[in-house]
Order: sequence, then structure tokens, then C-alpha cells
Amino acid sequence: MDRIQLKTHYKSEFIDITQEVNGIVQKQRIKEGMCYVYVPHTTAAVTINENADPSVRKDILNEFNKMVPWDGNYTHGEGNAAAHIKATLVGSSVSVPISSGKLALGTWQGIYFCEFDGPRHREVFVQTIKSE
Ligand code: ZN
Repeated sequence: MDRIQLKTHYKSEFIDITQEVNGIVQKQRIKEGMCYVYVPHTTAAVTINENADPSVRKDILNEFNKMVPWDGNYTHGEGNAAAHIKATLVGSSVSVPISSGKLALGTWQGIYFCEFDGPRHREVFVQTIKSE
């Protein structure tokens, strides 16, 4: 299993990790298979979405903040319940097929690490399975 180390800079942000994940797939010389991207945190997540227009990421974060406001009426004593809720809504893993030696993402898709309680040091686990 490979790991990607990240340093996030804001309370909430999406960080494009597509290049890092693709680099791992290429280093392993896997032609056909699956790539699992997993976030081992309870206030962060991973998703796949538009990689062309950065305003899409901004809109998603803005709407999440409206749906799950930071200062809502929560019981979690640590004060970051909103981040836990967003992490669960988005999810802790994505899987992407590997085809012809690279991630079979759509033209407009990128893999995003989603920070919901930054800034922090974070990790992403990447596990690949060869199917040849
Ligand atoms: Zn907490």
C-alpha cells in the first residue's frame, strides 16, 4: 500500500490528488486493475468531481457549509461535529478502474481530498489490485 502525505491549509478545502494517485499506478506498472483511494480520518473525505472549473469545488464547499453549518446545535464535545457529518456524507473511499496503465477517469474528473477540519497533516492510502 502506498501513502500520500498532505498538508492542508484551510478549514475546508478540496485538494486535487489525481496526479499523485496516477503516479502510484504508473510506478507499479499495472496495466489493468483497480485503484482504491482511502482516507483514514473522521473529519476528511475523498470524492471524484469536476477538474476543469475550480468554481465547482467552491460551490460544493459553500453548499456543504449551508447544509451543515459549523455552529449548528450539535452534542459532540470536541466542537467539530460539522466536519464529522460532512466526512460521512462524502465518504472515506473511492475506487477507480485502471485501464491501459492509468486511471480510467472521465475527461472532466479529478480525485479530490476533502478537508473539513483543517489545517492539518493528513494521509491518503492508495491500494491497487492487478487484474491481468
Ligand atoms: Zn470530533
